[in-house]
Amino acid sequence: MRFRIGQGYDVHRWVRGRPLVLGGVEIPHEAGLLGHSDADALSHAICDALLGAMAMGDIGLHFPDNDPAYEGISSLLLMEKVMAMVRQAGWRVSNLDATVVAQRPRLAPHIPVMRERIAGVLGVGVDRVSLKATTSEGLGFVGREEGVAAQAVVLLEKRGGQGDEH
Ligand code: MG
Repeated sequence: MRFRIGQGYDVHRWVRGRPLVLGGVEIPHEAGLLGHSDADALSHAICDALLGAMAMGDIGLHFPDNDPAYEGISSLLLMEKVMAMVRQAGWRVSNLDATVVAQRPRLAPHIPVMRERIAGVLGVGVDRVSLKATTSEGLGFVGREEGVAAQAVVLLEKRGGQGDEH
């Protein structure tokens, strides 16, 4: 098997008094997301996509939210740990495509930095990392500004082929 695909989905609730972190980037906003870690829903969706491609469960399994070790932890660090599992299992990331669904704030200005940061952790060029942001047109829990959702699809390819390095 040369390729494996995985998808991830995550939601976090808006809360006052916490920083907003998405894709490893702190974004100025009047509210942040509630969670045991830094509540970076985008990074969590990406971790779940990576684990899903390997059929290795989800981040809740590997980094339980009742473990004090992960309290307030940067989700990029969790992604680094997941990438260690990816490499250990003989895979590398071919590409990532992800979407954040948030009514506010406007995320477009932050996407280039988020792409760079995530590409760095995944060990690929930014040309293999696609990030999009959309609103939900005011509909549902995202539109009522109760929470933020993120989804990600990732393709893994087997390492060790010809011209393998990238
Ligand atoms: Mg989460």
